[in-house]
Amino acid sequence: MICPKCQADDTKVIDSRGAQNGKAVRRRRQCVKCNFRFTTFEYVEVQALLVVKSDKRRVPLDRGKILKSLVIACNKRPVSYDVLMQTTNDIIASLNDKSTYEIKTEVIGEVVMEALKKIDEIAYVRFASVYRKFKDITEFKAELEDL
Ligand SMILES: [Zn+2]
Repeated sequence: MICPKCQADDTKVIDSRGAQNGKAVRRRRQCVKCNFRFTTFEYVEVQALLVVKSDKRRVPLDRGKILKSLVIACNKRPVSYDVLMQTTNDIIASLNDKSTYEIKTEVIGEVVMEALKKIDEIAYVRFASVYRKFKDITEFKAELEDL
């Protein structure tokens, strides 16, 4: 850590303690050259989730795309926009809980399906049939009977 006063790059930590209910570490540092004292905070870096596509490309998780897929699945269904927004928040929170920075598209599809199952069964079957690319009508029927 460079001294903010004299720009020397030799500073030492003289005190270190938790801050903000354990969400940060506060350190008192002292410049070895000019003895100037200053404070630094260390935080966990909040990183945006990356989606791993089937061709291995990585793209940032797009909240708008998740909402759009819900809107399409719930087309002409009695589901309010508020519910779709809240469901999008829940999906993103659940993806963030997976303790990983990279998520495969299949995992997102499963989470979206689970969320739709709770809000509208027809929307769920619509999404699942496109998402799972049902091979034949038998498979589709089996899914309907599961509801
Ligand atoms: Zn200094």
